[in-house]
Amino acid sequence: MREKQEQNRNSRRDFLKNSAALTALLAMDPLSSYASINEQTNVTAQRKMHGIQIGAVSFIDEGVKPVLDFLQKEVNINTLFVTVFTYGRGLAGRQIPGQPMPDHGSQVSDATTYHGGNYAIANPNFYKRTVLKETRATEHGDFDILAEVIPEAKKRGMQVFASVEDQWRQDVPGITDLREFDLYGRRANTLCLFNPDVKEFWNALVADLCSSYPIDGVLFFNERNGPFLSALGASHFQSIDSSRATCFCDHHQRASIEHGIDFERVKEGYRKLDIFVRKALKDIRPSDGYYVEFQRLLLDYPEITAYDELFDFAKHQILKDVYATVKSINKKLLVGFHIEHVNSFNPLFRSTRSYEDLASMADFLKVVAYNNCAGERYANFIRNIGSTVFRDVPLELLMRVNNRLLNYSENEPSLDQLSMAGFSADTVFRETQRAVKGANGKCLILPGIDVNIPTGRNSRKATEQDTYEATLAAYKGGANGVILSRKYSEMYLANLRGAGRAIREGNRL
Ligand SMILES: [Zn+2]
Repeated sequence: MREKQEQNRNSRRDFLKNSAALTALLAMDPLSSYASINEQTNVTAQRKMHGIQIGAVSFIDEGVKPVLDFLQKEVNINTLFVTVFTYGRGLAGRQIPGQPMPDHGSQVSDATTYHGGNYAIANPNFYKRTVLKETRATEHGDFDILAEVIPEAKKRGMQVFASVEDQWRQDVPGITDLREFDLYGRRANTLCLFNPDVKEFWNALVADLCSSYPIDGVLFFNERNGPFLSALGASHFQSIDSSRATCFCDHHQRASIEHGIDFERVKEGYRKLDIFVRKALKDIRPSDGYYVEFQRLLLDYPEITAYDELFDFAKHQILKDVYATVKSINKKLLVGFHIEHVNSFNPLFRSTRSYEDLASMADFLKVVAYNNCAGERYANFIRNIGSTVFRDVPLELLMRVNNRLLNYSENEPSLDQLSMAGFSADTVFRETQRAVKGANGKCLILPGIDVNIPTGRNSRKATEQDTYEATLAAYKGGANGVILSRKYSEMYLANLRGAGRAIREGNRL
């Protein structure tokens, strides 16, 4: 084992020595490469990508070779999205605490040993222009996920992509000054997307990965919402705390001024939005009703949505920088972005995300179409927006109207049944079709398929047949492949075989 790791390190050093990429990165201006987006990558020539997300712990617990053999032979996987960077538990670590362990791998929780970070070995030369230099995941000793997995994957003809996620822990050296500020000047746990050290870190990380390892590309995850939706709690995964919306730091103030947005009016508007939300949660109804009061606030303060767009601008700038950095190293590498689940639920959010625009800065989009856990997530979303802006509307009616806005079938379950029933495979078909049409052939569409994503005790647990149908629905919707999500360490073997059966059929469509 140790000898093998030494060999891997040596071959990696040789690769680095022979690579001019590092010098190129340090000299490059990411802006200069924008014109080249999508010009060199003939994505339509790509074979269908049957992918799965998998973290380091699964290879440690079950061995690289047995895992790859199973995934290839029984699940028909030809593309691995290995989690290289995250401090979150959605993509890395064993089953999340409090949930039953699946029927493979270690049955012991890693709640006390999980750390997160970079599961590859970083080359410090790439991180000279950011304070974020020490991000090594420490829980698996000197295990290097890419060095261990790539040779075995290549032997089997499988592609390997590095998954990289914007999720942090608070004890990372250098992180304190990069954290966002909320509306009332309190530090948040998230990192400011306008902060130069943060922007530089993402470029450094992808440059390091693409230069140091023979990967096939990068899948970038950033599920962060702007201040507008955060203030409203208009997503599925949060409780509502409108005073915690971010970011109002000096970098954001400067960007606001540069974009011609009055920062004082922004703060005033968000303070009024905060008051509106708090009153709604206390059931204090405005004389004109909740919706009219909300709409009036937006008309009085167009700075509210303008500032939210500025947040997205920073987020998308990082995506463009990542794309340009990867392509500057090797034009053949593919870059993809994870499109978060709220995009399936929230018409307001949808209006801020044009697939055609996103397609112009990516080679592929991983469109989250998780249908089983969507039941409880969508129910949360409806209850959240039904407690503020749409508080005057009965929740079931609100959901039915929203379903129509989203083009969901009228046959989807009622709100009180939704968590227990989950969404149908038809929603996967519809979300795939929408993305394929929206992207208009400009990039590949790889729907994220829900394979045993943890749900609450009384919520639906997908059967093997459920997973088969959801996976096949993506191919029928015109997908260029799928990405089984979120991580192998939470998936059951039967459900994986169900997905594999659908992949075999989907590959022929
Ligand atoms: Zn900021």
